[in-house]
Amino acid sequence: MTTLVLSHPKCLDHLTPFGHPERPDRLRMVTHVLEHERFADLARDEAPLASIEAVARVHPPEFIERIENATPMVNFVHLDADTTLSPGSYEAALRAAGGAVFAVDEVMAGKAANAFVATRPPGHHAETATAMGFCLFNNAAIAARHARAVHGVDRVAIIDFDVHHGNGTQEIFWSDPSVMYLSTHEMPLYPGTGAARERGAYDQVVNAPLPPGAGSREFREAFDLAILPRMRDFNADLVIISAGFDAHERDPLANLNLTEADFSWATKEIMAIADRSAGGRLVSVLEGGYDLEGLGRSVAAHVLALMRG
Ligand code: ZN
Repeated sequence: MTTLVLSHPKCLDHLTPFGHPERPDRLRMVTHVLEHERFADLARDEAPLASIEAVARVHPPEFIERIENATPMVNFVHLDADTTLSPGSYEAALRAAGGAVFAVDEVMAGKAANAFVATRPPGHHAETATAMGFCLFNNAAIAARHARAVHGVDRVAIIDFDVHHGNGTQEIFWSDPSVMYLSTHEMPLYPGTGAARERGAYDQVVNAPLPPGAGSREFREAFDLAILPRMRDFNADLVIISAGFDAHERDPLANLNLTEADFSWATKEIMAIADRSAGGRLVSVLEGGYDLEGLGRSVAAHVLALMRG
């Protein structure tokens, strides 16, 4: 069994206005770095379209229809100041969600040891009925609910090391004791949520905010003291990573100073816990990461760790 990578060229057709950081070149860079021969052992497949049923486990049908109907024939439609739709956005969003769902299927069936879903748009800012922060559908949340509904998984842990807080994932699972959401993020920073006192209805939301300028030492300390012990105690049957790489020191949108070595370390620590409670079952979903070189190096380190390389 190996690591499965899911992607789809239609995810390049979600266009954003000139100068927008969440751009197709991000996915081109990810695809490019994974073409290196050290990734020759990866299994690769195309991300299928998510069914409406799968998306609707998180987002109400009216919201899904609103996104579909708002998708323009030409140019852009703005959903908010920084979240836009282009003609290819709806299909890209369904493939981003569908890739995460299919990754769960393959990992739960034992066909892959774990999986990395290299798609866009990202998802962790999307709330139940609100698209925001470059995100349309919450891919990680849809994957978690799919695992619960279709594979009978009891407990899912979602670990989010994107530099921004995943307000959407937190909101969706706030009152759901079957899902633990754990996040490191810079604070203060967009979207403004993620204080340590935000703990969910069942104390199953774990926020470990980091101050601007924090680096490797502070990040690993937050993992060691706040994130990993709670994840270990939760005993998840499936682990999902909201894998954003915008905490990299090169990233232009935030001010944390991680390197690819930190993402590799975090990935291995998460895998060690997944090995003990979940038979290693882990699905990692791409979120942010806006410096192309930092993103490329970080994804390479992350996927190499998933491959136990
Ligand atoms: Zn981010």
